[in-house]
Amino acid sequence: MIQGGLRGFRRPALIAIVAVVALGLSACNDKGGSTTGQQGSQPGAGDIAGLPVTHFESGLKPDAPKPDLKVRNEDGSEDDQLAIAAIADAQTYWTEVMPRDFGQQYEPLKSLLSYSARSDDEDTECGSVKGLVNAFYCPPDDSVAWDRGVLLPMLRERFGKMASAVVLAHELGHAVQYRLGEKANIKKNTPSIVKEQQADCFAGGYFRWVAEEKSKFYKLSTSEGLNQVMASLFLIRDQAGTSATKQGAHGTAFDRTYAFQVGFEKGPKECAAMNEENIKARITERPFDKGDKGKGDSKLDAEIIGILKKSLDEAFKGAGVPGPEITEDGNGSCSGGPSTPPASYCPSNNTVSIDMAKLRELAQPVDQEAEWKSGQSEGKGDFAAFSEIASRYAMGIQKGVGASIDNANAGLRTACLVGAWAKASTVPGATLRLSAGDLDEAISDLLSPESLVSADVNGKRVDNGFERIEALRKGYLESSSVCSTQYG
Ligand SMILES: [Zn+2]
Repeated sequence: MIQGGLRGFRRPALIAIVAVVALGLSACNDKGGSTTGQQGSQPGAGDIAGLPVTHFESGLKPDAPKPDLKVRNEDGSEDDQLAIAAIADAQTYWTEVMPRDFGQQYEPLKSLLSYSARSDDEDTECGSVKGLVNAFYCPPDDSVAWDRGVLLPMLRERFGKMASAVVLAHELGHAVQYRLGEKANIKKNTPSIVKEQQADCFAGGYFRWVAEEKSKFYKLSTSEGLNQVMASLFLIRDQAGTSATKQGAHGTAFDRTYAFQVGFEKGPKECAAMNEENIKARITERPFDKGDKGKGDSKLDAEIIGILKKSLDEAFKGAGVPGPEITEDGNGSCSGGPSTPPASYCPSNNTVSIDMAKLRELAQPVDQEAEWKSGQSEGKGDFAAFSEIASRYAMGIQKGVGASIDNANAGLRTACLVGAWAKASTVPGATLRLSAGDLDEAISDLLSPESLVSADVNGKRVDNGFERIEALRKGYLESSSVCSTQYG
């Protein structure tokens, strides 16, 4: 069997969030913005993990050298050029980094294979590539192979020219972990989720190096370019309901973007420190619970909005201010106030105004197969819709405690608070319980250009998907107090 492939196998996605009996829980102690303005050195609106925000077209540099690599079966296509440049580039990165961080020389890959899943049936030590829409590292012959027929063109057309570099940097990450062995906690029986998380993390380290302008081949802007990278990672997530212990598990989008961001922010040593134990403690990927009846998304109606409101009230009761009412009001705008349909926060009367019909469309289940094939799924899932409403609700809490609600920091703080609320919804007995796949619905929403989850009261948001995801993740993993300290 192919090991270390880029993506797991897919079945139709099934997503659910289930209402269960209420138990009180508190998640928020937002102290407001006034006391926390001295965090100048911390990431926040305006930098990307310590790098400046840059805007330019990402991809191969016009003066990129010609890679000196032998590739079996290559056809000179644009996708092969991008893939081969990415391998040459990432190998240069590892040639620099491995001696520095791990005290050993990087040995280049022994062989490379390009193939088309449409027509080719080349053999590798890991089996035939016939019909394989994937890319993979094959340990027995120390090779990397990629499908230039379906996978790479599809990713390039959808996400741009950085997408194939995401694929190849990940595969090279596997080659590196086999070279590091025990230094990277890799043994024969290491579960695939550990290897995959680490490979995503190593890829993150490489992309930081590119973003720092150290690459001869690629240039990567930290805004649109890094967005392409995050969106590519999102598409290749495992389907909802996969168990993290399943052989071949790669992680949810939440997990994959997390691992990537660790590598980007902290570098390869931190990736090598990943092991079964610390990954198990934080991984969000899990099968559906027995209680996830039907596995369909909740139908958005007055009853479920009531449950959502209760769940938000509980999560933010620590703030000590009244939570906004949620009212269905035609187009989801405030009369004479902010208009960010399908949900708006109206400061004048502390109300969240929602357009139920529009949110119901958004709440339709994710069709991961359709998304993979055509780039589109009708809905983003119920948790995407809940997150949009929760974000407007969180605006009311922030206003209540005297925090700013109309700037970039307010948008990121909102995403962070939505993450904290989502975490509160994982506790057994929570009013609204997070189920498998739900966090990825929030991330899917965050990555869409019109998402409210990271928007300020007027619907303005930071351009950068990396920052938006990071904010949500911080709230989820570190609790709501980090939201005010980080994005004060
Ligand atoms: Zn992999």
